[in-house]
Amino acid sequence: MRVSIAAAGQSESTMFTVIASGRQAGSRASVIQTYRVCLQQLSALFKRLGASGANILAVTPAGSGDPTPPAAAPSAPVASAAAADVPPAKPAASTPKKKPHGKVPVNTYKPKNPFVGKVTENYSLLKDGAIGRVQHITFDLSAGNPQLEYVEGQSIGIIPDGVDAKGKPHKLRLYSIASTRHGDNYQDDTVSLCVRQLEYKNEAGEQIYGVCSTFLCDLEPGSDVKITGPVGKEMLLPEDEDANIIMLATGTGIAPMRTYIRRMFEPREREANGYTFRGKAWLFMGAPKTANLLYDEDFLHYEKTFPDNFRYTKAISREQQNTKGGRMYIQDRVLEHADEIFGMIENPKTHVYMCGLRGMEPGIDEAMTAAAAAKGLDWSKLRPQLKKADRWHVETY
Ligand code: NAP
Repeated sequence: MRVSIAAAGQSESTMFTVIASGRQAGSRASVIQTYRVCLQQLSALFKRLGASGANILAVTPAGSGDPTPPAAAPSAPVASAAAADVPPAKPAASTPKKKPHGKVPVNTYKPKNPFVGKVTENYSLLKDGAIGRVQHITFDLSAGNPQLEYVEGQSIGIIPDGVDAKGKPHKLRLYSIASTRHGDNYQDDTVSLCVRQLEYKNEAGEQIYGVCSTFLCDLEPGSDVKITGPVGKEMLLPEDEDANIIMLATGTGIAPMRTYIRRMFEPREREANGYTFRGKAWLFMGAPKTANLLYDEDFLHYEKTFPDNFRYTKAISREQQNTKGGRMYIQDRVLEHADEIFGMIENPKTHVYMCGLRGMEPGIDEAMTAAAAAKGLDWSKLRPQLKKADRWHVETY
């Protein structure tokens, strides 16, 4: 949770902006809500959000600048923020706050006035025999005035067509952007997503498909789509070209990692961005089957071309076993390489990025705890320090 003020010292009439995230019933997509309340109402709102299981992301005195956009807080519970009966306030102002990322665009398009982009392509990222459905979807942004610009590590909102069970327009869902700011075509006017169609069985045993993920996966080229954002400053890359980047991704959590890796190693992208990465990048990727690995050929190619700078380690849960005979998850790979990973983390130039299933967080924590203990260090003290130094970045759902 990011709480950037102490309420003490504020007058009772001071207004506060509170940003909270929660999940809609039956969906894994996170919904972000903004509330505006006075000091007296603050604790009641906290209680209500707490009771609904929502995750409070930021609290700022209203008018004090940008209560920066969503960053999933590690290990806090998530449920329906919408359950809190305080009306959402207008979208937050977009004044950047953190100096190192001062030029990051935020909320160019808000839910009340979204940009309508056109789909240019929508293709499957899976091989024969894969589980489920995962699509790479690209939108043309060139008609935007202003154009929706973004940087690596940010997300956009998608408002699916149609209405919900109450006849109200659907709320937006956030998706991590999978293309660099230059786009897959290097023309600076597209944005791409990597989307898995959510599917599950409800308590009655009926097959349910996610509203927004199904809408996205079914889109035909030429279709119009309502887009908001960009949002997010949690997953931004450091500007330092000598930084080391450790990436932990499960499934479609690969989206931001693809943007970093393209920025670092894709030749035309490097030409466009003038960013000469000299550090070490190490991707740990978790997928259920080999056929489910996303962008695998690209990563193998970069590993071959940049062996001193890029390393790619996979955990294929339903084909490989960990040392205990269980499914191989990325935390098992982290444990295998604990010494090297810790050696890297001790270097202040190293950043860790985690994106994907929320469930991997405890496992990663456990692996880091064991690795730290082997070096006589206490991970529970070290992790907050890394977070404070802006070197530990988490976006999980
Ligand atoms: P997936 O293809 O199902 O792959 C997830 C992998 O993680 C599987 O190998 C799975 O193993 C493994 N896994 C399951 N539980 C785990 C645990 N506790 N610890 C470590 N690994 C575990 O993944 P997905 O359906 O794409 O899901 C990715 C998640 O990322 C979703 O929750 C999505 O909301 C989130 N996300 C998406 C975006 C986006 O923009 N698209 C961005 C950020 C996050 P088994 O299934 O074999 O057990």
